[in-house]
Amino acid sequence: MPMSDSYMKRLSKILPQTVKTFGTPFHIYDEKGIKETCCKLNTAFENIGGFKEFFAVKALPNPSIMKILRKEGFGFDCSSTPEIELSRQVGGLKEDIMFTSNNTSAPQFKAAIKNGGCILNLDDISLISKLADTPELICFRYNPGPRRKGNKIIGNPVESKYGVSHDQIVDAYSQSIKLGVKRFGIHTMLASNELNFEYMVETTRMLLDITKLVCEKLNITFEFINIGGGLGIPYTPDTPPFDLNAMARETIILFNKFKKQNGWAPKLYMESGRFITGPHGVLVTSVINHKNIYRKYIGVDASMSALMRPGMYDAYHHIHVHEKENDTQLEKADVVGALCENIDKFAVQRELPDTVEGDILVIHDTGAHGHAMGFNYNGHLRPKELLLKEDSSVEMIRRAESIDDYFSTLNFEPKTLTFT
Ligand SMILES: *Cc1c(COP(=O)(O)O)cnc(C)c1O
Repeated sequence: MPMSDSYMKRLSKILPQTVKTFGTPFHIYDEKGIKETCCKLNTAFENIGGFKEFFAVKALPNPSIMKILRKEGFGFDCSSTPEIELSRQVGGLKEDIMFTSNNTSAPQFKAAIKNGGCILNLDDISLISKLADTPELICFRYNPGPRRKGNKIIGNPVESKYGVSHDQIVDAYSQSIKLGVKRFGIHTMLASNELNFEYMVETTRMLLDITKLVCEKLNITFEFINIGGGLGIPYTPDTPPFDLNAMARETIILFNKFKKQNGWAPKLYMESGRFITGPHGVLVTSVINHKNIYRKYIGVDASMSALMRPGMYDAYHHIHVHEKENDTQLEKADVVGALCENIDKFAVQRELPDTVEGDILVIHDTGAHGHAMGFNYNGHLRPKELLLKEDSSVEMIRRAESIDDYFSTLNFEPKTLTFT
């Protein structure tokens, strides 16, 4: 089942009152579940000295959630200045923050090295010369090209815009050494929502091989390898979960082997987003209309401005109707929002119980790349975010957007360029 039984039970109990108090639509996240996953991850890799997860902020950029992750010892992986700012606001210091941007601008670099700096993860060899100061520690994102296959969300490495190519990787470190860089790491990010743990083990093997290659050639050592994020979660009820313990078991073997052969080993870093928070969030929305034409449609009060994965990736998100979980009489329907786009559907031809206006739909697995991907096309506003806390109270951790927010970028000092 996509959403855990435990979360389902605790949520069902508080849902009617929560809907009444806060109004739909909203995303609601589960503090207990998030903490448990953090703990599972830290425990799985604790035998690799210095293991650290840098949460991919873009998955769920909410400070209340990031504070929880910070307490579990996580750092943050950022790809923009606002994400770095968020990470600093929740207590991320220096090397707790990894700046993994691409096509990086000069102002972004400037912001990244401010306030104690962070780990700079460069996406290209040409960016070395664009750093204002020489950092002490540098990391490069490695793109293996035809050596590896990616997957649907992130694309094939040969076609992807990210990273330093295989032929440039030694040179990238060699140039950094000449500039005076003293500490080194290497990073890659090849797949997203990958459910096969072997793929992630293969990525670790690949990075350890590159580490050996670069370090022998240049007579340096790497402080860490960062295998990226991309650990998958089961979105459909019949998908088996990612086997984290199997991944950890095989990863530890690789590290031990490396250490035996080389007399040292880098630390293991990871930057998962989806795996950490994805299953611990749901989008709650009310049925407001029914329509019967060539198909049956259930209209809800959320739209793809709150969750665009189904429209963008054709992604499956499981849906249950509150208090009709056990109904056996099901009928096919499309669950739709109000955007003037036919991809604004949370589900297509989904078997669902008979609904009436006011029924509450719970759309699963929106805890990562859900609210965060929202947008304002068609004048649609993003919904609020709530947190179900461990003491079973519910706190609003982001308000819904208002019409004033929508108009805020239209209030500015007049500025005109005239030509004579
Ligand atoms: C998006 C992203 C991640 C997180 O991906 P998940 O699939 O959520 O684990 C990690 N690192 C980088 C560089 C990313 O762009």
